[in-house]
Amino acid sequence: MKEMKIDIAVIGGGPAGMAAALEARRQGAGKVMIIERDIEPGGILQQCIHDGFGLHRFKKRLSGTDYAQRFIDEVEASDIEVLLDTMVLEITRDKVVYACNNRDGMMKIRCGAVILAMGCRERTASQVLLYGYRRPGL
Ligand SMILES: Cc1cc2nc3c(=O)[nH]c(=O)nc-3n(C[C@H](O)[C@H](O)[C@H](O)COP(=O)(O)OP(=O)(O)OC[C@H]3O[C@@H](n4cnc5c(N)ncnc54)[C@H](O)[C@@H]3O)c2cc1C
Repeated sequence: MKEMKIDIAVIGGGPAGMAAALEARRQGAGKVMIIERDIEPGGILQQCIHDGFGLHRFKKRLSGTDYAQRFIDEVEASDIEVLLDTMVLEITRDKVVYACNNRDGMMKIRCGAVILAMGCRERTASQVLLYGYRRPGL
């Protein structure tokens, strides 16, 4: 199994993960790595083709994809490592991240800190009110 040691692992390469990684680096964190299961960073914003994003941060109306691209450009211009197409399977209490991809197989990554930025999923009202053993969250 491939083993690595880094200072900060950010799980999820959506806007929250990229912003957290950039800020951690700006604040002086050493080796920062984003681990993203998709083949490209950007998260859900890659599906948001309407505009209205970016008014606060960039003072401009941007589509979701353009907003995401601004972060992607910043991450690419930095020395933050981005592991794409890589699924995080487990995080232990002592901050070891187990992840896998087709290139490297299983990886064991020892981290000084782990930032969780995996987004969230909506539940429909009917699911929330569902009784029985197949309720979401069980
Ligand atoms: C259809 C739609 C329209 C929207 N419209 C707007 C809007 O108009 N304005 C607005 O402000 N917001 C909008 N949003 C919400 C906005 O897109 C989200 O709030 C934002 O993308 C959340 O960012 P995030 O980084 O927290 O999560 P996400 O964008 O979900 O990113 C999480 C990332 O984590 C990765 N990940 C998850 N689990 C793992 C794992 N185990 N291993 C590795 N990677 C993992 C995922 O692949 C994903 O890339 C919309 C959302 C949707 C779905």
